[in-house]
Amino acid sequence: MLRTGSEFLAGLRDGRRVYIGGRRVEDVTVHPAFRGAAGTLARLFDYKQDPANADVMSFEENGERFASYYLKPRSRDDLRRRSAAHYAIADQTYGLLGRSPDHVSSFVTGLAMNPEILDRDGDAFAGNISAYYDHLRKGDLYATYAVHPAPQSKNEALFGDTGGHQAVLQVVDEDRQGVTLNGMKMLATAGIFCDEVWIGNLTPISDDRGKEAITCAVPMNASGLTLWARKPMEPYAVSESDNPLASRFDESDVMLIFDNVQVPWERVFVHDRAALSREIYIETASHTLGNHQSNVRFHAKLRFIAGIIHKIARSAGVDGIPVVAEKLGRLASWEAALGGMIQGQILDCEDLGNGFLNFNRRYMYAALNWCQEHYPEIVAMMRELSGGGVFQMPADFSVLDNPETRDIFNDYWTTPAESAVDRVKLYRLAWDMYGSEFGARQQQYENFFAGPSFIVRNHSFREAPWSSFDGMVERLLGAGSAPDRSRED
Ligand SMILES: Cc1cc2nc3c(=O)[nH]c(=O)nc-3n(C[C@H](O)[C@H](O)[C@H](O)COP(=O)(O)OP(=O)(O)OC[C@H]3O[C@@H](n4cnc5c(N)ncnc54)[C@H](O)[C@@H]3O)c2cc1C
Repeated sequence: MLRTGSEFLAGLRDGRRVYIGGRRVEDVTVHPAFRGAAGTLARLFDYKQDPANADVMSFEENGERFASYYLKPRSRDDLRRRSAAHYAIADQTYGLLGRSPDHVSSFVTGLAMNPEILDRDGDAFAGNISAYYDHLRKGDLYATYAVHPAPQSKNEALFGDTGGHQAVLQVVDEDRQGVTLNGMKMLATAGIFCDEVWIGNLTPISDDRGKEAITCAVPMNASGLTLWARKPMEPYAVSESDNPLASRFDESDVMLIFDNVQVPWERVFVHDRAALSREIYIETASHTLGNHQSNVRFHAKLRFIAGIIHKIARSAGVDGIPVVAEKLGRLASWEAALGGMIQGQILDCEDLGNGFLNFNRRYMYAALNWCQEHYPEIVAMMRELSGGGVFQMPADFSVLDNPETRDIFNDYWTTPAESAVDRVKLYRLAWDMYGSEFGARQQQYENFFAGPSFIVRNHSFREAPWSSFDGMVERLLGAGSAPDRSRED
């Protein structure tokens, strides 16, 4: 059953324990720190539920409709449908929501396409992932994940008891009902707005840390779970016109604190198997389906940024200058290249051999790395072409409230091509994209959401067909045959 936006919002009023500093948030849907983003997400649910968008946003199985991001692809058309749904979501949110509802759901779908992996080391959890996949798609639920240890975990001295609380999330007890978790887990983006959180380990952990290898799912209102939000940006947005992005697209990031949280066995997927807790993502379609969404989201964001940069250059009257046009051409070529990398994932898709297809994982990892490497340059281009324009604008839109300042503003800031109001709106948008606290967080997100760069590049290293590359060199060198010296005489 597909939920409406208001049903989605009602689901967030479930008694979850969210803190901003020392202040408890009673209702995240109306709190000034979160209501704008909550409204944005609710509109996504309405859009998906609208029958006019059914062809892209949902699919039917046994008479029921489910979100397209729960589709297990069996054909290129299925892959296209998944991709189109990601594009629809990313276009409406300008690529600014990293963990939109189609991200973690795609990870879970990829796992559910190969549930046997969970039983590989002698466990019997395969049925749990199939049931959890059904639970998410039938309820049209929104999940995030926390799959990295908190930085403290790197310090061995902090692994033990720290005044009654373990710093690192781990299993502290287990019985016939399930496991008990204590500790801290990093960093559930959008967790404030999610129904569920997936706990796991995409960061490799060593074999002796089996208790931390717990992979499970927990509802956001689980007893003993608290969500610690980082500084929200929405309350500092002066108005929608002044901070058009921070006021609507701050998805938030939360640290998760577990205080004796009970997880029933039905929601446990890996336990006490450190290596397997990571391999489940990269040996199945999970990581690829999830990060195809990341590639698409970035592509939508890049198009949006290209629009901002182009409009700024026109507003400043510099777009016709050859050197500026060269920069814009470079940007346009990046955008097209990423689009090609995404389409290639469908064209050269993988046959998983069990009736399912996957996007091409090497192209996906290449695009992931490309995005991480290029975002700083893209931001630098926005900064460079904006010049000092952002600071020529009045402090905020209250300039229009005072007739005296309004008239001067309209006289001095209007150009033959643009009204004063349109100009200031554009520059405010640009600043929110690269200069404001919201923009700075976007940069940090693009740098780390899939792990630090050496982890992202390691995926490409792992998946590369090195023997094929080496074989070409060996063919040329004629490996194994003695050099022919006859012609040297
Ligand atoms: C905005 C944002 C949103 C996020 N959202 C999520 C989320 O939704 N879910 C989730 O699970 N996680 C999320 N993360 C966490 C993210 O995955 C981690 O930040 C990332 O894995 C890096 O870990 P760290 O922050 O502990 O940095 P560290 O591991 O402490 O690294 C800090 C720096 O040191 C370098 N470094 C560390 N170790 C090495 C090494 N061995 N060799 C070379 N260099 C090294 C790194 O490259 C990096 O530059 C998010 C992070 C950010 C910033």
